[in-house]
Amino acid sequence: MKKLKMFVFLSGAVSMLLLFQACAFTTGTDEKAGESSSPKYVFLLIGDGMGQNSVKLARAFGKLNMDAMPVKGELKTNNVLNKTTDSAAAATALACGVKTVNGALGMDKDGKAVESSAALAEKAGYKVGLLTSVTINHATPAAFYAHVMKRAEYAKILSQAYGAKYDLIMGYGVSGVKESAAAGDAEKAGLAVFYKNQDAFFALNAILKPTVVFKPFGYEMDRPKTDDSSKALSDAVELLSVEQPTVAAQAPGYTPVRDAVRPLNEYASKAIALLYKDNPKGFFMMVEGGKIDVGAHANNTYAMVTELLEFDQVVARALEFYQKHPNDTLIVVTADHDTGGLMIPEKLPAGFAAKIAENNTKFNGKKFSFQNDETMQSVQEKLAKQGIANLTAAEKESFEKILKSNSKNKRTALNQNALRIADTRLGVIWKTKGHTAQNVFLFAIGKGAEQFSGVRPNSDVGRIMKGFYEKK
Ligand SMILES: [Zn+2]
Repeated sequence: MKKLKMFVFLSGAVSMLLLFQACAFTTGTDEKAGESSSPKYVFLLIGDGMGQNSVKLARAFGKLNMDAMPVKGELKTNNVLNKTTDSAAAATALACGVKTVNGALGMDKDGKAVESSAALAEKAGYKVGLLTSVTINHATPAAFYAHVMKRAEYAKILSQAYGAKYDLIMGYGVSGVKESAAAGDAEKAGLAVFYKNQDAFFALNAILKPTVVFKPFGYEMDRPKTDDSSKALSDAVELLSVEQPTVAAQAPGYTPVRDAVRPLNEYASKAIALLYKDNPKGFFMMVEGGKIDVGAHANNTYAMVTELLEFDQVVARALEFYQKHPNDTLIVVTADHDTGGLMIPEKLPAGFAAKIAENNTKFNGKKFSFQNDETMQSVQEKLAKQGIANLTAAEKESFEKILKSNSKNKRTALNQNALRIADTRLGVIWKTKGHTAQNVFLFAIGKGAEQFSGVRPNSDVGRIMKGFYEKK
C-alpha cells in the first residue's frame, strides 16, 4: 500500500513536469492530440522481415486480419547510418524510439542505454508480456529489455531478460545458452520457469511472479559444411533450430527431431488471458512473428507465407480482445524490415496460392525430390514430370552449376533451385537473401491509433509508445 502511494505521487509529479514541457515546446505536431490519454492495453505485433510484398502475396491465401485495421501507414526502416537495418537496430527503434547502429539492442549509436516502451510500462505499473516464435534472447524481443551493443551476446542478454522482471517472457527456445542452464539461471533469479512442461503453463490461472516460458529445441541442423549457402542465409537459418513444424519441416537442410508444438497464436491467447486477469491497470504486450524472416532469408515463398499467416492469427487474437475493450485498446501491427526484396506480379494469376503451396510440396523434399546422383538428363526428366519443361538457357545453367559442384548435398541445392524456378515462373522473384531498405507497412486500430498514420521513421513507434507511459 505504501509503495502504491509513493508511486502515485511520483507519477503525478512526472506528469506535471511533462505537461509543463509540452506547453513550453508546443509546435503543433500531430502527436500532441493523443497525449491526453493513453491506451490501457497496448499490443505491438512485429512481423520480422515482413516486407510489403510479403503481405501482398499473403493476401492471395485469404483475408488478412491485419487488413481489418483502419489506420494504415508505412515505416522507414533505415538505421542511424542511413543503411539497411538489421533486426537489432530496427527493434531498438520500435522499442526504444531511437535509431541506432546494426547489432545494438536498447543502446543508441554512442553506446548509451535507452529505455524501451516495455520497461517504462513496467515502471508505470502495467503488466508486460513479450512473446516470440524465435528465441527469447533474439534481437526483436531483446530490444524490449536488454542493453548491449552486440546482439550475439546471448548470455548477457538472457540475464538481462531475467533481470527485467516482466510478467511474461515467452519464446521458442533460447540462443547461445544451454536450455537447462538457462532454466536454472531463471529459477535462481526468482522467476517461474516453464521449459519442458508446456502443458503446465497452459494450465496456469494466474501469473504469481515474473515468468519465463521457452520450449525445448525441436529441430536439428542438417547443414553440410560444403553447402554454398550465403552468409546471410546461414545467419538466418540458425533460427530454424526452434520448433515450428509447419515451416521447419519444410525448410531446406533441416531435420525435425520432435513434433507436436502449439502455434504462436495459442501462446498469444494464453498470454493475453494471463496479463488481463486481475489487472485493473492494463498491459503492454509485444509479439514477434520471428520466422517470417527465416522463410524470406531462405527465399522460400511458402515458408515465409506460412509464418506470415500464423503471425496474422496473433493479430486475430488481439482483435478479439480489442472487440471486448474497444475504448481501452491499441493494436499496432508492423515489421522491422523487408527481407528478400520479393517481387510479385501486379495481378496474381488464378489459383496462385494453391500453386505456391504445390511448388513447395514438389520441390521441398516431401513427395518429389532430387537425389545426390542426378544427371542433367534425369533432372530434366523429373522437372518435366512436375510441369517444368523447356528450361531456358539460364535455368539449365543454374542446374549444371550444381551438378558440377563438389557439394555432398546436391539434393538440397537441386530442390531449392527447382523451387526457385517454379516460383519464378509464377512471377515470384526474390532479389536477395538479405534485408532491403524498403519501407514496411503499419496497421493500427483503437485508442491513439491515428498517431501512427502516414509515412514515418520506425523510431516513431517507440517514441509514441514510450509517451504513453512517460507522462503517467
Ligand atoms: Zn533477418
